[in-house]
Amino acid sequence: MTLRSLGQQASASSIGNINCQQNSIPCNKDCPSGLFELVKQSSVRGILHSHSNMSGGPHSLSRLAETASLIGLEYLGVTDRFMTSKQIISQSAEILQLNQNSDFKLLHGIEIEADKDGNLPLSDEIMSLCDFVVVTLKENHFQSKAAMTDRAIRAAMNPFTSILSHPIGDFMTMGENSWIDMELVLMAAAQAGVAIEVDANPSHANLDWHNCMLAQQFGVKLVISSDVHRAARLVDYRHGAEMIRSAGVCCRQILNSWGAEEVKAFFGSYSATNSSTSA
Ligand SMILES: [Zn+2]
Repeated sequence: MTLRSLGQQASASSIGNINCQQNSIPCNKDCPSGLFELVKQSSVRGILHSHSNMSGGPHSLSRLAETASLIGLEYLGVTDRFMTSKQIISQSAEILQLNQNSDFKLLHGIEIEADKDGNLPLSDEIMSLCDFVVVTLKENHFQSKAAMTDRAIRAAMNPFTSILSHPIGDFMTMGENSWIDMELVLMAAAQAGVAIEVDANPSHANLDWHNCMLAQQFGVKLVISSDVHRAARLVDYRHGAEMIRSAGVCCRQILNSWGAEEVKAFFGSYSATNSSTSA
């Protein structure tokens, strides 16, 4: 399937059904009573991209959860990298234990890098151990714009992909929209039901206001996260909330403005990850 045909397919099958522009205000079908409510910092109820001491961070799961709870969040998605199946199983058990008798919830995710062709390097069996899969495109930036776009689309179309993480790059110097066709990537995300991350980490590149508006028009869910490696940086999501606010995005378009159970249900609806574990 060609890149262009993927885009056309997404446009025909998904975008035409999005009911986001029926009114003069940029509302969408998920808004309560169809009313538009501009996203704000307090809209964010949880974070879906963070790292514990299993992948470079200094803090344990319990420390991250404690801090997230203290700043008013309801849940935290832990997405450690380079995990073996044994480590994932062990972490899953730890999360289960920490969630017992606690109103604050940890969600069990994993972060993986799509290879230069957009393939995911872990087996389906390992990915299915997690609640959700965050896919990044941090490496192989030597690729052409067409190749990078194709790679991002192929990664988004993988049934295990839950969230495409900061797709326009990692650091500010690399985050040029010119090397990826975000419109085509957003079309693919709309078709696949994959959320796109708005990375509020100050050292990372971010979607600009135009792409945030486009995502809303296409019905693509956005996730405000900040690739947290230290508990103190959990507050960084607030920068992302302000940026998205300036793009006129409705709070219901932000996946992590939903409750933990709603978020898990969203991943279960679209991702092979949860559909396989719940079967
Ligand atoms: Zn990360």
